[in-house]
Amino acid sequence: IAPPPTGALDGRFARELAEMAVPWQAEEAPDPRLLVLDEPLAVELGLDPGWLRSPDGVRLLVGTAVPGGANPVAQAYAGHQFGGYSPRLGDGRALLLGELVDADGRLRDLHLKGSGRTPFARGGDGLAAVGPMLREYVVSRAMHALGIPTTRSLAVVATGRTVHRETPLPGAVLARVADSHLRVGSFQYARATGDVDLLRRLADHAIARHHPGAAGAERPYLALFEAVVAAQASLVARWMLVGFVHGVMNTDNMTISGETIDYGPCAFMEAFDPATVYSSIDHGGRYAYGNQPTVAEWNLARLAEALLPLLHDDEERAVALATESLGSFRRRYDADWTAGMRAKLGLPDGLDPAVVPPLVEELLVLLRAGQVDFTSFFRTLAVAARGEAGPVRRLFPDPAPVDDWLTRWRALGPDADAMDRVNPVYIPRNHLVEEALAAATDGDLAPLERLLDAVAAPYDERAGLDRYAAPAPPDFGTYRTFCGT
Ligand code: AMP
Ligand code: MG
Ligand code: MG
Repeated sequence: IAPPPTGALDGRFARELAEMAVPWQAEEAPDPRLLVLDEPLAVELGLDPGWLRSPDGVRLLVGTAVPGGANPVAQAYAGHQFGGYSPRLGDGRALLLGELVDADGRLRDLHLKGSGRTPFARGGDGLAAVGPMLREYVVSRAMHALGIPTTRSLAVVATGRTVHRETPLPGAVLARVADSHLRVGSFQYARATGDVDLLRRLADHAIARHHPGAAGAERPYLALFEAVVAAQASLVARWMLVGFVHGVMNTDNMTISGETIDYGPCAFMEAFDPATVYSSIDHGGRYAYGNQPTVAEWNLARLAEALLPLLHDDEERAVALATESLGSFRRRYDADWTAGMRAKLGLPDGLDPAVVPPLVEELLVLLRAGQVDFTSFFRTLAVAARGEAGPVRRLFPDPAPVDDWLTRWRALGPDADAMDRVNPVYIPRNHLVEEALAAATDGDLAPLERLLDAVAAPYDERAGLDRYAAPAPPDFGTYRTFCGT
């Protein structure tokens, strides 16, 4: 069992973009205890799981002992939060420990959240509680298992420090892994400095790490923008297809890599309704389920604005180029959504593409009217593809209007086995997440482990896991989530 060698953690971001990196140290953790570790991810990163479980390994996971040569930094970024611009956000309670080369030769950020105040902390305490860090762990694990690009959670370590929220809570540090932590807000920050050289270095760094194809394009920075547009259109379509509500799609929470980031107030929709909102602070429904594509496009417009000086010397030309590229978002999103829905409905690839959108529109009207659980519907629909329509009909309070739709859909020849490969049985249901986090906060990790087992293989229906496949009981009530806890 060997620790990571000296030099294993590079500091490429800090070196190439020193103006956006403040060298900083994690706060001491009085009594660090490992709560969960993603062993396959550790192996992927070339880190020995046995060593990570040792006292030295746990100290790496809370940032109080880093391998020789590593220089943790807090990253600067700006961002539009609920539409209002903040010029200086940055890692208020997070640190980039450095970059690792993984087993595939890919550069991955190793990052901590809840590791203490930094110069970007403003009024915050720099800390995080066990519950919210485990929420990020379980939901990011589920997203990865669903095949959706996401930052990963390597480990959650309880610090032994009390965190004061509405009540005293046990503190924790999350060790997070990402292709990078570059955000739309990183570009807004660089642009706002007025230093075009910094902006160009940031764009070059992003191209090298995420969209290397852009380097050879006629206009590399426009190609970078278009690559981010494509990645985000695909990502948000994936969210929509599983009913994921991010909850806080501020521009500082949108990555350049196209990975989902920041599992604060997120939740999975149950009864289908585009107006679904869970975040306690999203009063206007800005980040409602059905608004997510529009918000992503809005955020990408902010990225375009930040990139303007790199797109063309003439600002009018730059705006015209950016506007045209941004126009591809809707086309790409619609194509990704329609292709995803076609697959969820089990319909063949070669189907006349014009057939799918109206069929989907009609279906969504029926689901909304019947307040049908989005996840259960698609999984149960495969049973109807096998010839037994009873179970899916029973999901609707009034199944009569559904029959006509079912008849037309069945006539298209849906493939039930293909449906079961894309429609999950198990998602991190809100009531089960809450149950698991409450138990973990009280020291019992068993419910969390069981939930992790279910969501880690979401398409593979197993005996004895029925309660992980069912919507919340009515007495669970209206679900509310909270940011920054
Ligand atoms: P978020 O809403 O999670 O995207 O965070 C927005 C900003 O608030 C980021 O700059 C975070 O680093 C910062 N932040 C959130 N919680 C805390 C905290 N407890 N202490 C310091 N900064 C925080
Ligand atoms: Mg954030
Ligand atoms: Mg957050």
